[in-house]
Amino acid sequence: MDNSETITTRPALAIAAPLLEQSSFDPEGSAGLEGNRGLLHRALDLGLQFKARPEIYGRRRAACEIRDLLVTDLPAESMTGEKVLADFVDRVLPLCKNEASPRFMGFGDTGDDHLGLTGSVLAVLTQQNMINQSFDSPSATFVEIAVLRWLRDLLGYVNPPVSEVRTVWDVGGMITPGGTTSNTVAMMLAREAKAPGTMQTGVSNPGRLAVVVPKGIGHYSVKAALTWIGCGAQVIEVATDGFRYNKPELARSLREHGDRVMGVVAYAGDSRTQTIEDLRAVHDLVRAVDPGIWLHADACWGLLAAFSPNLRDKIDGIAEFDSITVDPHKIMAVPYGLSALLVRDPGAVRTISTYSDLIMQEDFAFGQVTPFIGTKGWMSLKLWMMMLGRGRAGLAELADHRQQLARRFAELVDAHPRLVRLNDPDLAAVVFAYLPSGLQSGDVDEFGLRSVNQLNIAIHERMLTEGRWHLHQFTLPDDLGRLRKGAVVHPLRFMANNPELTEAHMREVLAYLDRLALEVEGEAA
Ligand SMILES: *Cc1c(COP(=O)(O)O)cnc(C)c1O
Repeated sequence: MDNSETITTRPALAIAAPLLEQSSFDPEGSAGLEGNRGLLHRALDLGLQFKARPEIYGRRRAACEIRDLLVTDLPAESMTGEKVLADFVDRVLPLCKNEASPRFMGFGDTGDDHLGLTGSVLAVLTQQNMINQSFDSPSATFVEIAVLRWLRDLLGYVNPPVSEVRTVWDVGGMITPGGTTSNTVAMMLAREAKAPGTMQTGVSNPGRLAVVVPKGIGHYSVKAALTWIGCGAQVIEVATDGFRYNKPELARSLREHGDRVMGVVAYAGDSRTQTIEDLRAVHDLVRAVDPGIWLHADACWGLLAAFSPNLRDKIDGIAEFDSITVDPHKIMAVPYGLSALLVRDPGAVRTISTYSDLIMQEDFAFGQVTPFIGTKGWMSLKLWMMMLGRGRAGLAELADHRQQLARRFAELVDAHPRLVRLNDPDLAAVVFAYLPSGLQSGDVDEFGLRSVNQLNIAIHERMLTEGRWHLHQFTLPDDLGRLRKGAVVHPLRFMANNPELTEAHMREVLAYLDRLALEVEGEAA
């Protein structure tokens, strides 16, 4: 889509005109609002200029230098808005990271869909509180419900007819600030399914509350969630093959651990390679061993596959899972934070609901079903606007475009004599390593492996320090055996989520890597 398009305010103001007249609001600025209006408009311009700049960073400094610049005492005197803004522009903004730059290729979350931004701004300015419906968010609650139903529908969960949505327990999901919170809610649901009433009684037998995850590619949030909800850090790691569960190993582990297991987590796009699990196989296997085990799909990345008929098969079976985490702030170009936890059987969220006479015990008060969160902003508005703007066709285009870019980057990596690709991209991530001179991929020995890791760590460090380009780095088991099966590699990761990304950028970043590798190896020699 065309992101150079600027947000036009005129039609919106025309629509709002009757409202403005009615409340005798002077759009040119009345006392009290006048100063703020100018400042806010400039803040908006400033933010958009920031996003449009080609650089990731305006300035790069060491952490301690930034600390000493910014961790200062609160002044006694008040400051004008102008001065505060000027201070921000001067001291803070140049050091900020701009993910909207197409040179930032490490992550997904560019947050630059123009309707996503519009929704964010309006959510701030309308200040609705999703905790209650009747007086706190009369319409916002239903926008949130609409968005949750759209997400459910895309993933294949069945929605009840609108007329049967009578309470928050008929919706089948909740909006949270991030995938970590959503996964934690999923683990609470798993716990209540396994040991009903733990919400009231507390954990009495943690030994039965273990969760199975794939080894080496899981996201830390599942283990953290188990510690937060009193189950203890009980993850059972199962060996993988090509970044998916080794199915015989999964079956063996489930039988071995028997009643210890309360849940199995499968990744519809793991957080490193975005490989999508064979969800139907995992579902069938787990259900055959024990139909009571809670099946959770982490689709923080994999939601993308739900958008396009060309990718939909990859998540076949996901609608059979008991719960699904999605993370639109990672893949839908909406600003932070926005995730959703979706539940196949909407009634299941009753098991983790809380009752309070502070939260209105009214049918549509989301505060009753959303653990950990009291006052909650209108996070879903940005997604509502973004999805309306794109429609089904636009979402499909978004997904297909990213997959095509990732394929193209994979081709460039494959054609490069010094690069080895470590994943076969399902979605938008390409993971690869730079090979030290003289080293060939395939059956690399211990010494070779160490030199690969040293080189890629050094390249990445230099890249972070310079701040001109960004690729991500982490540890990854070489599950496809491109260097040596099972070896732990420190690779680089490219992601094709930025709408401004072109083939020229991809070629440039590879040329940049060549330069860094030459420098690193030159200095080591
Ligand atoms: C990012 C991620 C999470 C956590 O989401 P946040 O939005 O960072 O809280 C969970 N699971 C996977 C697979 C992820 O990639």
